[in-house]
Amino acid sequence: MFDVKKNLHQVLDNLPAGVRLVAISKYHPNEYILAAYEEGQRVFGESHEQELRQKVPALPKDIEWHFIGHLQTNKVKYIAPYITMVEAVDSLKLLKEIDKQAAKHNRTIKCLLELHIAEESTKYGLTLDACRQLLADGEWRQLQHVQICGFMMMASFTDDMEQVRREMMVAADFFDEVKEKYFADDPVFCERSWGMSDDYPVAVECRSTMVRIGTAIFGPRVY
Ligand SMILES: *Cc1c(COP(=O)(O)O)cnc(C)c1O
Repeated sequence: MFDVKKNLHQVLDNLPAGVRLVAISKYHPNEYILAAYEEGQRVFGESHEQELRQKVPALPKDIEWHFIGHLQTNKVKYIAPYITMVEAVDSLKLLKEIDKQAAKHNRTIKCLLELHIAEESTKYGLTLDACRQLLADGEWRQLQHVQICGFMMMASFTDDMEQVRREMMVAADFFDEVKEKYFADDPVFCERSWGMSDDYPVAVECRSTMVRIGTAIFGPRVY
């Protein structure tokens, strides 16, 4: 087995207090997840509903699952019974569906709005203006079974760490703008989810509170 335990501790040693690790376990087997679990890791992220459906029943019940991928509205009902956080909410429609399905299970699901800041056109997410529009609309205020906890974003896939830094700082500054305008009195709005295996040291410098790391812990994914 890839040395999951050693890698996990190496990553954790690099994270300052106040930055949580979401261990991204997509495409990795349950034994890898359990290896990290045995070292105390409890937050795991997956990006495919079908994969979660197989993994969740077979793994410890106190794992906190985050959905990190692009989520289709017709899949929400499957994850609503157990998912702790949906990290990549990119439309009001999706937010409303999560609320509706969470209500059926008498739960509250934490959500992050995904920001599209990277230059690549392939990335999902809300542009800053679309996000401003969504918040200004105010319909989200009616939703009782979701909590908007902050933002997630993926920086451009590039070796140019200055570009990555610029993009993450745009997200960090936008967080401050929105925090002040809409969530100043809401301690739940506190999360900035950026940073992956290749760029998390930069993310930490850009005020990340939550890094999503797969490869650096579990090794290369076998698709
Ligand atoms: C797969 C994935 C990650 C983890 O990427 P690594 O480079 O393996 O650390 C983080 N965030 C999202 C949204 C992902 O899909």
